[in-house]
Amino acid sequence: MTTADCIFCRIIAGEIPCEKVLETDTVLAFRDIAPKAPVHVLVVPKVHIPNVAAAAALDPAILGDIASAAQLVADAECEGQFRLIFNTGERAGQSVFHVHGHVMNSGALGWDA
Ligand code: 5GP
Ligand code: ZN
Repeated sequence: MTTADCIFCRIIAGEIPCEKVLETDTVLAFRDIAPKAPVHVLVVPKVHIPNVAAAAALDPAILGDIASAAQLVADAECEGQFRLIFNTGERAGQSVFHVHGHVMNSGALGWDA
């Protein structure tokens, strides 16, 4: 997929609006359009890399940047506690093939409520 076809590249380029939460030199964090938890933010690198393993191979530092940004989002929104999920492959639930960490927190009731 070229970046012109990629919805997250288009969000990063400002062509599609998003509810931005955090931006650094290397990553953008914005709210998921269809949240599955009270806190559900996506952290994406500004460069197009298709999945987490490709990121590990091509630019492992970007994974550190994603994790650090996830912590900052969680510090601001949910007392620093979060899940960080990378779906990889269609049958694992990946629908956007630009690597993104789902930063999620279930809120006061916890995941099993
Ligand atoms: P995946 O299924 O690839 O792990 O996660 C993709 C996520 O991107 C989904 O949770 C979906 O709701 C979200 N998403 C898809 N399109 C958009 C969009 O245009 N804007 C935002 N903010 N989120 C999107
Ligand atoms: Zn992309």
